[in-house]
Amino acid sequence: MRAEIISVGTELLLGEIVDTNAVFLSQELAALGIELYHRTTVGDNAPRLKQALTEALARVDLVITSGGLGPTNDDLTKETVAEALGLSLVLDRSSLEWIEEYFARTGRSMTENNYKQALIPEGGVALPNPKGTAPGVSVRKEGKWVVCLPGPPRELIPMFRDHVRPLLQAESQGVIRSRVLRLCGMGESVLVKEIADLLANQTNPTLAPLASEGEVRLRITAAAETVAQAEVAIADLESKLRARLGRTIYGVDDETLEAVVVSLLQERGETLAVAESCTGGLLANRITDVPGASAVFDRGVVTYSNRSKAELLGIPATVFERVGAVSTEVATLMAQGVRDRAGSDWGVGITGIAGPGGGTAEKPVGLVYYALVGPGVNLVREARFTGDRQQIKRRTTQTVLDLLRRTLLP
Ligand code: AMP
Ligand code: MG
Repeated sequence: MRAEIISVGTELLLGEIVDTNAVFLSQELAALGIELYHRTTVGDNAPRLKQALTEALARVDLVITSGGLGPTNDDLTKETVAEALGLSLVLDRSSLEWIEEYFARTGRSMTENNYKQALIPEGGVALPNPKGTAPGVSVRKEGKWVVCLPGPPRELIPMFRDHVRPLLQAESQGVIRSRVLRLCGMGESVLVKEIADLLANQTNPTLAPLASEGEVRLRITAAAETVAQAEVAIADLESKLRARLGRTIYGVDDETLEAVVVSLLQERGETLAVAESCTGGLLANRITDVPGASAVFDRGVVTYSNRSKAELLGIPATVFERVGAVSTEVATLMAQGVRDRAGSDWGVGITGIAGPGGGTAEKPVGLVYYALVGPGVNLVREARFTGDRQQIKRRTTQTVLDLLRRTLLP
C-alpha cells in the first residue's frame, strides 16, 4: 500500500508550529511497511486543499490528513474531502451525542459550529476522539481511502493508535523495522571508510549513517514479511557491524551515552564525582538525567573561578600562577580533589575555554583538558573542539562520557 500525508494549517506554512504530526505519521507508516513518497502542507484554504487532495488521490490509495477538524470557519478539511471525493456531508448521530455529552460534562454550552463537527462525508466512519470534540473520519470510495485526523497531537496520536493503526495493519502486507546503532569516538568520514563495502552493496537491509552532535548513528532498516524475519535480517547486519566497529558502538536506538555510563557504574558497584569548569555543570546534568543515577553519582561541583577551585577542591594558588587554570595539571587536580572529597571511586576534572572570548594563541577557544582518576587509572587528555559555546560544552561532555565508558567497559 502507498500513502501520502497532507498537513493542513496556515500556522504550519507561517512556521509558527512544527509539523510533528507528519513526523509521527511517517514513522508509524514506515513501521507498518506502508510506502510514503509525498508529504504536503497546505494552509486553511479550501481550493488549495482540494487540489492537494485530488493530486494525492491520483497517485496513491491512502491519504491521511492532519488538522482542520475544529469548529471554526477556517477548519474545512471534512467539507473539502467530501467535495474531492464527490460525496455530501451527513450528520453522524453518535458523534453528535458525544459532542453534546462532552459539553454537558465540561459545563459549557454548544454553539452552532460544534454541530458542524458531527458532520462526516456520507459512507464514512467517525473515529472517536476521547481527548477533544472533533471526531476523525475514515472514508473510502472506489478503492481510494481518506483518513482525517485532528490537529492537536494529544488527540491525533491516540486516535491513530487506537482506531487507524489496526485498520492499516489489517491491510498492509509486510513490515519495515529499523534499529539504530549509536557510535562515539569515530568521525563519520572514518566510519564511512571502515564500512564502505557494506554501504556500497546494500539493498535490504539498508544502512544509513547520520552524524549528529558528538556521535554518529547508523540506521539499519529491513523490509520483510514478518517482524521476526525483519529482526533476523537486522541482527545479521548488526553482528557484522559490531565485529568491525567493536567498542565504538556504545548503544542502540534511544540509549544515551550517559545512561550507558550510569549502568556500567551500577554493574561495577562504583561511584563517580565530577568537578567542572567550562562545562558549567552540563556533565552532572546529563548524568542526573538518567533514572537511578543517585546510586552511582555522588556529586558535581562547578568550580568556575580559581578561588572556587582552591576552596572547594584544594588546588594551591601557586598552580594557577605557574601553569594557568586551563592546563593538564589543573584538570588532574580537579579530578583528584573532587574524588578525595567525595570519597568516590572515580573523579573527573574538566577545564577549558568555551569562548567566544578568552582565547590566546597558545590556548585557543575550544581547548579543553579533562582528567579521569580512579582505581589504577590516572588519565589526562587534551582536546580542541570547534563550534560555539554550547557546542563546545556539549562536545566536551560527550568526549568525557565516552572516555568514562571505554575505561569502565570490562
Ligand atoms: P487545527 O485542528 O488544524 O485547527 O489544529 C489545532 C491545533 O493543533 C493547532 O493550533 C496546533 O497547535 C496543533 N496542530 C495542528 N496541526 C499540527 C501538526 N501538523 N503538527 C503539530 N501540531 C499541529
Ligand atoms: Mg486550524
